[in-house]
Amino acid sequence: MEKTKIEQLYENEKARGFVNHLIHSYLPIHKVTKVWNFEKNKPHKCSICGHELIDVETIFERVQKSKEFAGEFVDQMKKDLEGKPTKFEDRFMVKHVTHGAIMAWTGEKTDTMICQPCVQELLNMVERGLLIGDKNITYQVNKMQRGQLFSSFTSSSSLNSDEIKVVEKIEKKIENSPQHKATFGDLEILQNLKKKMEEDEANKRMNTGEDVLFESSKTIKLEHKKS
Ligand SMILES: [Zn+2]
Repeated sequence: MEKTKIEQLYENEKARGFVNHLIHSYLPIHKVTKVWNFEKNKPHKCSICGHELIDVETIFERVQKSKEFAGEFVDQMKKDLEGKPTKFEDRFMVKHVTHGAIMAWTGEKTDTMICQPCVQELLNMVERGLLIGDKNITYQVNKMQRGQLFSSFTSSSSLNSDEIKVVEKIEKKIENSPQHKATFGDLEILQNLKKKMEEDEANKRMNTGEDVLFESSKTIKLEHKKS
C-alpha cells in the first residue's frame, strides 16, 4: 500500500518535529475548524500535501455568483440522472465554485492549513501509531493529554495566580522527568486544588440558583403534562 503524504513526512527525520506540531494542533478533533477567510499574501496550499485550498468566504461569494449559471447546473443534474458522466473540471461546483481547490481546515496554535483528506490521514496515522505502540506518537498523545489536564487548572477562575504558578511548576517538572510522572507530593497538591475548584464551582452554581431553576422547570413540565 502506498504511503500517505503525512506518513512520508513522518518517516523523514527532519520533518518529525513538524509532524509533532501538527499532532498537537489538530488533535483532538475538536481543535479542527474550517478556515473562514485566508490571511492575505499567504499561500493557500495544504501544509501536508500541497493541494490548493479554498476558504468559506470564497465559497459563499462564488456560490452567489454561480446563480447566473443555474441553467448549467440543471443540465448537469439531468446528465447525472441519466447516468452520463461529467468530467471533473466541468462539474458545476468545480467550474464555478472550488476551481478544483479543497476546503481548508486549521487547528489550534498553528499557522498551517490542511485539506480535509489530510486531516483524516493525520488522524489515521496517530491512531495506527497508538495501536502499534509507536514511541513518539504515544509520547505526543500522552503529552497532549497531560497538557489538557494542566490547562484545566491554569485556565480555572477558581484558582489564584499563586496556585496557578504552583501548577505550572509541577507541569514543567513532570515534562522534564524521564517517566513523566508526578511525585506523590505533587499529586496531593493537584488533588487539593482540584477539590478547591470543584467546591468553588458548586458554590457558584448555588449562588446563581442554577440547580434551583432546573428543579422548578422540571416541576412546571410535570404539571403541564397533567393538565
Ligand atoms: Zn492535503
